[in-house]
Amino acid sequence: MSARILMYHSVAYPPAEGRLKGLYVSPPMFRFQMWYLKVAGFAVVPLQDIAGPAGSGFPQTRTVALTFDDGYEDFSVNAFPVLHHYGYPATVFVVSDRAGATNTWDENSLGIRKRLMTWDTIRELSARNVFFGSHTRTHPFLTRTEKDHAREEIFGSKRMIEEQTGTSVETFCYPYGDCDPAVAEMVKEAGYRIAVTTNRGSVRPGDDPLTLRRAFIRYNTHPFSFFLKLHTGYEERKGRRP
Ligand SMILES: [Zn+2]
Repeated sequence: MSARILMYHSVAYPPAEGRLKGLYVSPPMFRFQMWYLKVAGFAVVPLQDIAGPAGSGFPQTRTVALTFDDGYEDFSVNAFPVLHHYGYPATVFVVSDRAGATNTWDENSLGIRKRLMTWDTIRELSARNVFFGSHTRTHPFLTRTEKDHAREEIFGSKRMIEEQTGTSVETFCYPYGDCDPAVAEMVKEAGYRIAVTTNRGSVRPGDDPLTLRRAFIRYNTHPFSFFLKLHTGYEERKGRRP
């Protein structure tokens, strides 16, 4: 029995000159994937519901949660209308100090500057079945950050998103998937119930809700590999557990 958390970044065409095309899914491919979830009978649930407390019946097979890292503006333009069409909830992890600005943490290394959603857009979408989670304030490698600073990244971003949206923030995403037991403990202390990594795999009964695995959907995830990620143990095998 397992459920899946799908990990997206940008829903857009990658620019020819940019690196890391894996961080994009094209709009037609995204539409196909959302359509497929419907025809294949998947239940798309909010991330915070995917790993319920013991006895709640979760995780369930043919259940997925949709997550979008970094909060790019293309989410509101290219992904949201499709999600809205199907009535799917989604979770977007925003870098709270950078809302309305750009991806300062990797724009030099990737050679591409991308716009991030403004607080106005975030507020508008949060009233329309989009949940906003924290991806820290500035997207650092948390295990390499001095402890007090790491705390401020984790606690401060939660506070800011809650103030801006008027909703409670229960989910967290480790920048670069970088986490260790001390960081996970701070995430727990801050009051997050669910946190996701970039480790590959599905959600299984007994998984730690603060280090959940995901299936990475990339530019080159063609329909056949999308099926494998949804219907088989493919991601589990790729992301061998310790
Ligand atoms: Zn990120």
